[in-house]
Amino acid sequence: MTSRAAQSRRNSRHTLRARKTTTKEERLQAYRLTHSTFLIVEIDDVYSEHPYIYVKLITSLRAFLESVPVEENGGRPLNERARMRYVVALSHCHYDHILGVEQFASDSPVLQSSYAPAFVSRSALPAHSLCTDLGIRTPQFASVLVPHNTMLTSASGVPLGMTLLHTPGHTPDEIALWDAHELMLYVGDTVYEWEAIIFPAQGDIKAWLTTIDELVAVVMSSRVPEAVRINCGHRTVTRPALEVLGKAKQFVMDVLVGDVEVRWRMWRRGEWYVEYRQEGGQFSVRCPERLIEEARQQ
Ligand SMILES: [Zn+2]
Repeated sequence: MTSRAAQSRRNSRHTLRARKTTTKEERLQAYRLTHSTFLIVEIDDVYSEHPYIYVKLITSLRAFLESVPVEENGGRPLNERARMRYVVALSHCHYDHILGVEQFASDSPVLQSSYAPAFVSRSALPAHSLCTDLGIRTPQFASVLVPHNTMLTSASGVPLGMTLLHTPGHTPDEIALWDAHELMLYVGDTVYEWEAIIFPAQGDIKAWLTTIDELVAVVMSSRVPEAVRINCGHRTVTRPALEVLGKAKQFVMDVLVGDVEVRWRMWRRGEWYVEYRQEGGQFSVRCPERLIEEARQQ
């Protein structure tokens, strides 16, 4: 943890203590109704209405898809009674993008990039998924390695309207999915606004720059480039693709030519990590300093 983060955590703990008498925590009680559903009762609310709040814990993505009504889907689950089959595309192998995959792996194809087979091999996955670092079990699943620029189909050959693209940079196995009909681009951890673009030890900034150029070319080849939206693995969703890709690339180029000052430098896992942040914070980059130096040399 950075000293800044530690300081802010100390501050927030202090604030919590100071405010305790004014928070609602002590006026709520929770009761388990079923295996997964809790009732929370406000016992001393300002209007004396004692409202009941029901909380259903959904720990399975698949259970959510098949059983939880979604208002914007006409009040029905997204895949009611599992009528549709799944095709799962892993944006890349980091733990936060694969921990749910075993729910699907027994009966659905799981797609990964064929760009760097050794990187996603069963023996390399515990380290490259970062599960080893976190001390958690690495999911076990079989996958199909898919070549660059592949139009995806269902197991029975029905086109899914998605093209899988190899987009190495964040990791060698990073992919993007391109929906040319709906003008939607899904890019996993390749780029973010208002949250750091992170390169792990296996990242490659030069490859990332090429990837950004290729994604821009894909967008430009569409029927209405300026209407294409980009959707990322966290935070950034339905933003104009050309704007996000263009500005992110410009920021990284500014970093490489030395126009941005290092925000912090930290020793982690045997090397220096740095963060650069654009004024205002729309774009930031966090990575081993070695990757910046390698990209500058290239
Ligand atoms: Zn990642």
